[in-house]
Amino acid sequence: MNAASSPNRLHWRLRQQGHSYTKSRQLVFQAIALLGPCTRPAVVKRLEGKVDRASVYRAIDVFIELDIAHVVRYRLIELSDPFRQHHHHFVCRQCGQESNFNDDRLEQALEAFAKDRGITLESHQVELSGLCRQCSPRA
Ligand SMILES: [Zn+2]
Ligand SMILES: [Zn+2]
Repeated sequence: MNAASSPNRLHWRLRQQGHSYTKSRQLVFQAIALLGPCTRPAVVKRLEGKVDRASVYRAIDVFIELDIAHVVRYRLIELSDPFRQHHHHFVCRQCGQESNFNDDRLEQALEAFAKDRGITLESHQVELSGLCRQCSPRA
């Protein structure tokens, strides 16, 4: 995806859903794009002096409501598919190592699953947890 198209897409998505495209929403969007999976306080901190805390929280709520962003690992905020490269998450529960992955077989399996059930699939999230290669017991 072309990163330059993101703000236009944001504008379009907000307007389409009857929300206004404000400077503070634009800044919150950029902060999430930069920080990657991040907490709400991290976004507040990043925008200190530019956007007040309440506005940051409100903007994040609107983004989640409109699926511009979503919650990963129960509390972290990340931009949704149309706004960044599609990927999934793995986090090691022992060392905390995080990695993103993508796999065509998984994508195809999900598409086939949806098709078989007559589901019009619009988005999906897959999060894996467990032990990374280093932390896994050796066979
Ligand atoms: Zn590990
Ligand atoms: Zn996927």
